[in-house]
Amino acid sequence: HAKLERDRISTYAPEFDINTVERLRLLADLRTALDSDQLHVVYQPQVDLHDLHTVGVEALVRWEHPERGLVPPDEFIPLAENSGLIFPLTALVLDTALEELARWRAAGDEIRLAVNLSARHLSDSALPSQVAAALARHDVPSSALVLEVTETGILSDPARADLVIREVRELGVEIAIDDYGTGNASLSYLKRLEIDELKVDRSFVSSIGDDRHDLIIVRSTVALALALGLRVVAEGIEDDATVETLRGLGRVIGQGYHLGRPGAPEEISARLARERTA
Ligand code: C2E
Ligand code: CA
Ligand code: CA
Ligand code: CA
Repeated sequence: HAKLERDRISTYAPEFDINTVERLRLLADLRTALDSDQLHVVYQPQVDLHDLHTVGVEALVRWEHPERGLVPPDEFIPLAENSGLIFPLTALVLDTALEELARWRAAGDEIRLAVNLSARHLSDSALPSQVAAALARHDVPSSALVLEVTETGILSDPARADLVIREVRELGVEIAIDDYGTGNASLSYLKRLEIDELKVDRSFVSSIGDDRHDLIIVRSTVALALALGLRVVAEGIEDDATVETLRGLGRVIGQGYHLGRPGAPEEISARLARERTA
């Protein structure tokens, strides 16, 4: 019996151990990264599809690991969430991005900034006062900030999420539902929650040119959201045909590689300057 146990361990343990060790190492590195300038923020334009003007940017975190190179957020955000490092990480992104936003706005561009929140923030009663303090530090009007939350983030503890969202909105900060359509119970909380913006997930948007069902889903989602008085952002626009199709659906804001890849703050400044003189 003991031998059986041993065999099983020797069969399954190594893989498990490597993953665990790997994860722990990455986590330790992330802790270091937070204190040593390895994390930076890039900004992806959000564009009014009717006149192609930049109306906002989404802040996206990047990790330039000294040995591994660029680690994608999909790999380290979950680690940050599980370990609690997501709190200092979000604080860093918020602070960095608000500083850039203040600069852009000082140049005369009344754009909005969107920052991603994790599920953990929606049960953190300290969030509203931290957001208020960050806005005050950079002297940015609260209405220029949009916080993006996901359906799954809300559903993990709906009552507390409701409360945090309400307090954040009382500051004048706006709330967007990110990746809309990929979670559950969407319609019920659209009715109940007070939100400002809906971001239609890229998995529907990027295929509206060749998937009739996706087109139907996006068309009715946009109609519903606009009828509810929400701002609509379509994510994952990768070609001009998609822009044309979305234009026909009403007043939609677009985001995607075709309209602008995530870029350094200087790239956004240059883009805004170009638009100002155009
Ligand atoms: P998300 O919030 O849905 O962000 C949009 C993602 O789609 C970004 O990936 C962006 O680069 C990518 N994207 C934009 N346009 C296109 C397109 O046309 N085609 C395709 N295929 N992709 C496009 P990224 O930057 O790798 O971020 C991945 C996810 O990581 C984000 O998804 C978000 O959930 C998370 N994330 C990124 N930055 C942060 C952050 O600062 N805090 C938190 N909590 N999560 C973040
Ligand atoms: Ca987002
Ligand atoms: Ca998204
Ligand atoms: Ca996503």
